[in-house]
Amino acid sequence: MSAGSDSAVGEQPAGKPKKAAKESKSANRAASAPEPGPGASTGSGAPGGPAGQGESSVPGGPAAPDAPDAPAKPDAPVKAARKQAARKQAVGKQAVGKQAAPRKAAVKEAPAEPAAKAARKAPAKAAEKAPAEPAKAAKKAVAEPAKTAKATKKAVAKPTKAAKTAEAAKPAKKAVAPARAALKPAKPESHVAMVRRARRINRELAEVYPYAHPELDFRNPFELLVATVLSAQTTDLRVNQTTPALFAAYPTPEELAAADPEAVEQLIRPTGFFRAKTKSIMGLAAALRDEFGGNVPGRLEDLVKLPGVGRKTANVVLGNAFGVPGITVDTHFGRLVRRWKWTDEEDPVKVEAVVAEIFPKSEWTMLSHRTIFHGRRICHARRPACGACPIAPLCPAYGEGETDPEKAKKLLKYEKGGFPGQRLSPPPDYPGLPAPPLEAG
Ligand code: SF4
Repeated sequence: MSAGSDSAVGEQPAGKPKKAAKESKSANRAASAPEPGPGASTGSGAPGGPAGQGESSVPGGPAAPDAPDAPAKPDAPVKAARKQAARKQAVGKQAVGKQAAPRKAAVKEAPAEPAAKAARKAPAKAAEKAPAEPAKAAKKAVAEPAKTAKATKKAVAKPTKAAKTAEAAKPAKKAVAPARAALKPAKPESHVAMVRRARRINRELAEVYPYAHPELDFRNPFELLVATVLSAQTTDLRVNQTTPALFAAYPTPEELAAADPEAVEQLIRPTGFFRAKTKSIMGLAAALRDEFGGNVPGRLEDLVKLPGVGRKTANVVLGNAFGVPGITVDTHFGRLVRRWKWTDEEDPVKVEAVVAEIFPKSEWTMLSHRTIFHGRRICHARRPACGACPIAPLCPAYGEGETDPEKAKKLLKYEKGGFPGQRLSPPPDYPGLPAPPLEAG
């Protein structure tokens, strides 16, 4: 707006309201077209810009003097009202412009309700106080609340977005939680859980090997005692193939005790370590003859005093010849209970003590047979057939051996692999074939 137009309004004579109104309209039209003038900031009064110090009657107009030399005339109130309305508009726009910060703040902290209310009130007041400009002022007054309404919507919507973001962040936190959990070491199995699992393994093995039995051929406690001593460092099959000739020649402790050592050595030669083993079996035969009347004692403490007899041999004899429960911790038994995490002990005596705590006495002997059966047929020392193992779901060592079912199947031994067993005279319920005699083997 130019200074000229302003002075023209100020020169309108009193008593000519129509002309004044025309002038007022032309002044308004001019005001609607921003025309920066000297000394005025182009951004002054513009929405969002600094206030125009109240000098420009129209937002965006130059800082024009209020025609100081013009006489006071009756249309002055109209002009003043127009100026005041324009100032209010400027203030209203400023209020709107200044909403930006509160809006942002509202997103984070509180709803933008106060800012929105302020924005609504400012134009509304301007409209009330500027009746001379009903059209534009009213339009702006209406338009501003519309903008404010949008702003309010945005202000309301933004927290919603923020809320969505917060919601989206929640799964991220959840996603972190399992990762942290994964880093935690697996919860160690409680003793109670281990005992339950161990007993379940025993039950499963009972179904897999219902025919489990000692794999040494024997007809009495003496034969079982001698055969067990001979089984050290060799297979039960080799012992079973050897003992028929030995017991045929020396069927009692007295006869064996009185035998020619060299003849005994030749008979048991296939079992290996035959000289040492000859001394052991001839020594225990003499002890049975001299100390126990030619009978095998049925007590552990007596058996372990015999030459070449340890706890393992004593338990085998007690369990299978006397019906006294015993745990046989041989190489297979020790290896498997460690794989099953029943114990980490290597010492057979300690292993026996641990296992004795897990199972009732009534299970000791058959548990030993089932475990040894499993070690010989499926859970081998070097290459266990995990892929064909019926207790794999209960075994912490699953995967230590071959897991491919077809490959694992080829690793099975004895009756599980379709081959003969170790005994030449197996029990009637044995599903496999009897072992061949020594000459045939
Ligand atoms: S799963 Fe493997 S290691 Fe475990 S008992 Fe079976 S064969 Fe042995």
